[in-house]
Amino acid sequence: MKLIYEKSSPGRPGVQMTSIKISESEEIPSRYLRSAPPELPEVSEAEVVRHFTALSRLNYSIDTHFYPLGSCTMKYNPKACEAAANLPELTEVHPLWPQLWGGGMLTQGSLAILYRTERMLSEITGLDEFTLQPMAGAHGELTGVMLMAAYHDDQGNDQKDHIIVPDSAHGTNPASAMLAGYDVVTIPSDEKGMMDFDFFREALNEKTAGVMLTCPNTLGVFNTRIREICDAVHAVDGLMYYDGANFNAIMGRYKPGEIGFDICHLNLHKSFATPHGGGGPGAGPVGVVEKLRPYLPISRVKRRTEGTYVLHYDEPKSIGYIAPFYGNFGILVRAYAYMVSLGKEGLLGTSNRAVLNANYLRERLRLLFGVEKAERCMHEFVFSGDFLKKHGVHVLDVAKGLIDRGFHPPTIYFPLNVSEAVMIEPTETEDLDTLDRFVDVMKEIFELAESDPNALHEAPITTPVGRLDEVKAAKDMRLSCE
Ligand SMILES: *Cc1c(COP(=O)(O)O)cnc(C)c1O
Repeated sequence: MKLIYEKSSPGRPGVQMTSIKISESEEIPSRYLRSAPPELPEVSEAEVVRHFTALSRLNYSIDTHFYPLGSCTMKYNPKACEAAANLPELTEVHPLWPQLWGGGMLTQGSLAILYRTERMLSEITGLDEFTLQPMAGAHGELTGVMLMAAYHDDQGNDQKDHIIVPDSAHGTNPASAMLAGYDVVTIPSDEKGMMDFDFFREALNEKTAGVMLTCPNTLGVFNTRIREICDAVHAVDGLMYYDGANFNAIMGRYKPGEIGFDICHLNLHKSFATPHGGGGPGAGPVGVVEKLRPYLPISRVKRRTEGTYVLHYDEPKSIGYIAPFYGNFGILVRAYAYMVSLGKEGLLGTSNRAVLNANYLRERLRLLFGVEKAERCMHEFVFSGDFLKKHGVHVLDVAKGLIDRGFHPPTIYFPLNVSEAVMIEPTETEDLDTLDRFVDVMKEIFELAESDPNALHEAPITTPVGRLDEVKAAKDMRLSCE
């Protein structure tokens, strides 16, 4: 693709600049003045629009391509939820407007949405209270671990010094625990991909502040001994933390609060109608059991007996502010619209399809990967690409080959405890044809790995830039064109 400068041709500007008379000597010191006017590209307005539209199409996006990036839940999000979040009645509200002003109801609708969103998340997770403030999954984790610390502090549990995290956890779990001042004790996975129970029993003691579990975990495996783990942790007055970032695997099927979890965060920007990725705004609300309610961040949305809503700040044991006002409001509105439009049955259908799609894809790919044993997974699954090594091909080559064939690559080299890991999450929003096409293309790539491995080493060849030296790009970053 041509650069915009290469499209320039003299005398064809898209914008007419009016010249403004400013006295140079007064306004701008001469050392800051250019000696000659800047060389801006001269391109007509229509061509500028086409140029940037064409550039935007070079991106992969869920609106254009299948995006099976494991652990990230890159799924289609209903445009209706987007429209709800863009209603002027919701976007034009300022959080500093009075909640009840001369009988006015300027922010009552927004507060009602917040309140109902909290109530629905409580219903879905089986936890008593929610805060909507945290702005990301990791932010929710930090909030959750701070709640743990506040609880232990209040209970006089001074000996608590560590948090147990299995090695299959998302990297943010140990990071959040450390940031909140705890040591992290890592437990290896057993052959089924679950936290090794014996190692866990050995690590658990009176000094354990809590355990952070992802369920299903990063291997897409549901830990079948959760209740035993919860009971053991509660016996030493520890707290159970549930990483619910990938809640589309289980919502409607079971409630973390009902099997013994005390704290849980959800990633609304994965499972609840906000696109994930690109570093955009997110929301990681945190739910807790009743005994942790006093420590939740302020403000809290309260419903008064006459049916109006107020923001409540008077919580003496609260951990304080986690985010300004009440979090990323637009993301919360999307989640609200999503839950209301799907209803209970719809949410259950979502997780059923997420798990069905993953199992279908896993089963179809299993034989291509040379995996003999059929096993069930949750919403995502992991394969080892070790079998390709004999052809001198790595899963990086497979990922690049997929790009040439119109698919975003799955997650590779994660989780770390599987060599040449390929982690696939189809999500509930893909149809059968797309899944079948993906399998066909994977098959084609594996055949190519055998017949012509070099062709894969050269991939991608259809993109504006070919294979990048990623290590050099990270270590020797150059951010200008010079
Ligand atoms: C994505 C994810 C997180 C972190 O969420 P962020 O919003 O990226 O901070 C935490 N845990 C799990 C299991 C995840 O998949």
